[in-house]
Amino acid sequence: MTKCPMCKRPVRWEGNAYRPFCSERCQTRDLGNWATDRYTVPVENTPEIDEAEEAPAEE
Ligand SMILES: [Zn+2]
Repeated sequence: MTKCPMCKRPVRWEGNAYRPFCSERCQTRDLGNWATDRYTVPVENTPEIDEAEEAPAEE
């Protein structure tokens, strides 16, 4: 079973326009992390916070 890289929930692959994410929200959050390193989408279920520690803080 494929899991969403964002929320680790099982991803429905068929008819999913947001794969490998489970939803548009997770996809947007991932792109937001790369682009701005901050969230612009309301976060309801906060994933592992320690992911942020793995990202290099160059700015
Ligand atoms: Zn997800």
